[in-house]
Amino acid sequence: MSRCFFALWPDDSTRERLAAAARGVSHHGRPVEPGNFHLTLVFLGGISKERVQELLQGASELHYPSFTLNLDRAGWWGGPRVLWLAPTLIPDRLTRLVNGLSDLAHRAGIVLDERPYNPHLTIARKVRDFTGSAEFEAVKWRAGKFHLLESKSLKSGVVYEPLAAWPLIAEGPPTER
Ligand code: ATP
Ligand code: MG
Repeated sequence: MSRCFFALWPDDSTRERLAAAARGVSHHGRPVEPGNFHLTLVFLGGISKERVQELLQGASELHYPSFTLNLDRAGWWGGPRVLWLAPTLIPDRLTRLVNGLSDLAHRAGIVLDERPYNPHLTIARKVRDFTGSAEFEAVKWRAGKFHLLESKSLKSGVVYEPLAAWPLIAEGPPTER
């Protein structure tokens, strides 16, 4: 079984801009390594090799347009104690992609979390409260592909291994939606 999820996985230059933004948000938690930055699309949980193969095949048949995320907001959830960056405006294209991937997972027999989708990029964990300042330049992230990632728990902490990536189709001039 592999613990897997679909995600947006930033390219190096976006990752650097995200790291700079994250440094502008003060907190007393444990920062997430920029190399681990990602935005979960659909969390799949522990799945068999056969399921992974089915998803690889299914995802290669999907065609969704690219979009830009504007991560302009920092926030905190007290339950999981995570600090995150998120877009105030959620592009319709992101919602459509997430719905398409959820359908694919569903067709592969994977039972998904029913909580409403809340796109966010976790920048720190074990954050007990968040009253600090958040001064950062909003990050425009052009999402040109999506990934299937495997989450691996090592002694040193969690790492995510990209298993595959698929392009999102550029459609006409860049648009926010
Ligand atoms: P760790 O659990 O080791 O602290 P992590 O949460 O980053 O690290 P995973 O638990 O493997 O690693 O999760 C991978 C991604 O999927 C993370 O973005 C996490 O927030 C998200 N995720 C995990 N469980 C769920 C779930 N039940 N529903 C939605 N998203 C989830
Ligand atoms: Mg977790």
